[in-house]
Amino acid sequence: MLNLPTTFLFSGGGSGVLQGTTCEAILCTLTAARDQMIDKIGRENIGKPVVYGSDQTHSAAFGLSPDSLRSAIQSDIKSGLIPFFSCATIGATSSNAVDPLGPLCDVAKDYNIWVHIDAAYAGSAFICPEFRHFLRGIEGAHSYSLNAHKWFFTTLDCCRLWIKEPSALIKALSNDPEYLKNKASDSKQVKIPSNEAMACAQKLGASNLRNFIRGHVKMAKHFERLIAVDKSFEVMVPRNFAIVCFLVLPLMLGNPKQKLLGGEEANEFNRKFGIH
Ligand SMILES: *Cc1c(COP(=O)(O)O)cnc(C)c1O
Repeated sequence: MLNLPTTFLFSGGGSGVLQGTTCEAILCTLTAARDQMIDKIGRENIGKPVVYGSDQTHSAAFGLSPDSLRSAIQSDIKSGLIPFFSCATIGATSSNAVDPLGPLCDVAKDYNIWVHIDAAYAGSAFICPEFRHFLRGIEGAHSYSLNAHKWFFTTLDCCRLWIKEPSALIKALSNDPEYLKNKASDSKQVKIPSNEAMACAQKLGASNLRNFIRGHVKMAKHFERLIAVDKSFEVMVPRNFAIVCFLVLPLMLGNPKQKLLGGEEANEFNRKFGIH
């Protein structure tokens, strides 16, 4: 049995963010790793960075072999290319292959390559300690993702991306537009998920969600009070939440002397009124 490495806990400085899909998670981490590399090698070399993965990386068991990774890296370096990213898989899509994480991370470390671990499907299994041995060596990786929409009873889209050092991701993806700024984001005390993902997700927090709902109920109460004192309306059913059910009484329509329509006539009027 293996305990989860502390490098992938908040206490180790890591950070998690929900992405839409594994493809997005990989694209985001690739962008972070690429920008980090471009900072070092300069924009004029943007054509040189190379990415590695096995032929089972989403589409050998069929695991990616550390020896073949090392020799591919060496030959690419000889041809003037710059290795910067590799993707290892735990539970490949078609073969269920698990790459040897530890040895792959060791090779990647020698060349300063970012390692992302794609556990889209199998990742959910590691809630059970008896499967955690597949994670052996994960502490050498830079990022890790799993799809809650595969085996965690969640609907699309919910990919959980964990990143060991989130600053590279934030640097690459944050855009900090004026319309997303507020007191909390300015204070830097809260995490802004849209700075770590492509989607413009905002974390509201439980108290904001409560305020949102209470605000709607308050508006509904106010509306209910207004129509309760107006003879042109009748509140039909007691209001529980933020929905106010009411009838329009035909009396209001231009002719105050007209007798109030009742029963089916009033209903008919409201049916028409609602439709038009
Ligand atoms: C399903 C799967 C993916 C693709 O996931 P999306 O969320 O659709 O992008 C990638 N990698 C593996 C190993 C998968 O099983």
